Amino acid sequence: MQLGISGKRALVCASSKGLGRGCAEALAAEGVNLVMNARGSEALEDAADQIRKAHQVEVVTVAADITTEEGRARVLAACGTVDILVTNAGGPPPGNWTDWERDDFIAALDANMLTPIALMKALVPGMMERGWGRVVNITSQSVKAPIPVLGLSNSARAGLTGYVAGMSRQVAGKGVSINNLLPGIHDTDRAKSLDGGVAKAKSITVAEARSEREASIPAQRYGTAEEFGAACAFLCSQHAGFIIGQNVLMDGGATNSTI
Ligand code: NAP
Repeated sequence: MQLGISGKRALVCASSKGLGRGCAEALAAEGVNLVMNARGSEALEDAADQIRKAHQVEVVTVAADITTEEGRARVLAACGTVDILVTNAGGPPPGNWTDWERDDFIAALDANMLTPIALMKALVPGMMERGWGRVVNITSQSVKAPIPVLGLSNSARAGLTGYVAGMSRQVAGKGVSINNLLPGIHDTDRAKSLDGGVAKAKSITVAEARSEREASIPAQRYGTAEEFGAACAFLCSQHAGFIIGQNVLMDGGATNSTI
């Protein structure tokens, strides 16, 4: 299937590794020019070089913390005209519901709710003027079914989801399609770190923690960044213009629900 987005330009946030990198790769494979971002410049430059070589697209890099106003300003200044926005940032730390104070919630809201909202506010008006745009927000399966140890994530991502549900319908008439992609467990550094936490808490090895978790997923495995990226690229394609304000779960069947 031709996705019809060759020559478009995408900002993919937090994309030197993991799911963001998977999205950047899949868009580049479709001929989309990229602005890539992460805090650490070494992995970011490595990823950008590999993508340029593999897909012959233009890749601009901005090493910055996307969750800060200053970082976002630098990323947006480097963007130029953007047709596709993929929002992403690191997830909040795990813990217990009694652990978190106001500052912890503010940090989680800044990273996983207010940052994507600020980026959409900055870039969606241009997409509306040009009559075409796509936004994919990387959120989490915790939006559909809470993960108790990730209470900060549950809270912040639910807020973003509510915002997108309303605003995506306000901009759809101008050719802008905004959706959220909800990862279940994928084989990235984030998953390794969560497995590390479980291993410590249960006094088991990280490999045992992973096996236990894999056994709890109907697909019996973790997802890959490549699969995730392919779904993202489809939501950014010409074919996705009638998909508005949806929350697309990619979790190997882990969320046990009928609808
Ligand atoms: P990851 O493998 O740890 O990769 C995170 C990427 O984001 C790296 O490139 C990192 O580079 C960059 N990054 C992190 N914080 C950033 C910031 N403040 N500003 C700019 N770049 C930043 O994580 P992932 O597994 O891809 O997860 C991506 C998102 O999906 C997270 O919010 C996570 O909570 C969520 N999620 C993941 C899973 C999963 O199983 N993997 C499941 C559900 C939800 P630097 O460190 O150099 O900045």
